Amino acid sequence: MSDQRTELEKLGEFGLIEHLTKDFVNQNPSTSCGIGDDAAVISISDEDAKLISTDMLIEGVHFNLMYMPLKHLGYKAVAVNVSDICAMNGTAEQITVSIAVSNRFPVEALEELYDGIRTACSIYNVDLIGGDTTSSLSGLSISITVIGSAKKKDIAYRSGAKENDLLVATGDLGAAYMGLQILEREKVVYNANPEIQPDLDGHDYIIERQLKPEARHDIILFLKELGIKPTSMIDISDGLASEIMHICKSSKVGCHVYDEKIPIDAKTSMTAIEFNLDPSTCALNGGEDYELLFTVPQSDFEKVKGNPHMSIIGHMTNEADGIYFIDKSGSSLELQAQGWSHLND
Ligand code: ADP
Ligand code: MG
Repeated sequence: MSDQRTELEKLGEFGLIEHLTKDFVNQNPSTSCGIGDDAAVISISDEDAKLISTDMLIEGVHFNLMYMPLKHLGYKAVAVNVSDICAMNGTAEQITVSIAVSNRFPVEALEELYDGIRTACSIYNVDLIGGDTTSSLSGLSISITVIGSAKKKDIAYRSGAKENDLLVATGDLGAAYMGLQILEREKVVYNANPEIQPDLDGHDYIIERQLKPEARHDIILFLKELGIKPTSMIDISDGLASEIMHICKSSKVGCHVYDEKIPIDAKTSMTAIEFNLDPSTCALNGGEDYELLFTVPQSDFEKVKGNPHMSIIGHMTNEADGIYFIDKSGSSLELQAQGWSHLND
């Protein structure tokens, strides 16, 4: 280590990962795909592969126990990991769970956490097969590793999008972010005066999207039924803009995404407007929706069109054409991904 000191924020999360891992060379032929996608791909036969991904949640950074019930936290920690397996077009099968916990937590609190983990294991049909338990000086951290499987021919990488492919988002976007805004607002009110009851009325949907997101394994099953293999796929954990840029960078393509096509639930829009925020900005930069973003060839248009779970939001272009957001007035704006420079997830 030299005397030089470089601040983390100079590189940002993705710059830092690239910087730290650039000198590693895979040495095993079974390592089909290492760093750089939603999950690593380990070859186990000519046809089959295992998928592996890890996500860590830290108290005070990713969750606040003032409004996040431990049961929901356990559920969410599993769901966000399963989501990364879905993003490869695979099926999650096992998890390991590691926790670091301070003596602030009684056994009953951890039982709640594991209640949520167990519920998610049952919903997503995954087995808890191990983990690690250690103490922490302050707060709670949870790190989950998920293992999934897929036929090699079915795996969707971030890197397969082609010029003219259609860009498709599942479900609706921006809700988890607006749910967080409501919870944060009520936290401030409560801290100022604990006598005042939180006012969460009418916000159930967006709060649930924040506290109890689902991995879209149902979409993986729909895609199979429809006979669609996405040319590329990613899960929307950091906000639509950031994920579009990941696909474009990995696939070496450009993109046109249309504001009016972005699926936003009416409850999300209404809350955004109440907060003086543009609903599209919340979808683009909000994060934590855990929907899927994928590309398909134009020949799949009929299969995707009219599907209530899927919205065609744009198309891929030549890399040199750049990545553009076309707003409702028809003006093109170069897409900015705010998520990129923030080392916060
Ligand atoms: P996702 O948002 O899908 O969970 P990330 O953005 O966290 O993915 O990570 C991008 C890629 O970088 C993944 O392949 C992940 O495994 C890898 N990665 C992240 N952090 C590290 C690290 N500290 N060391 C090695 N690889 C990492
Ligand atoms: Mg991901």
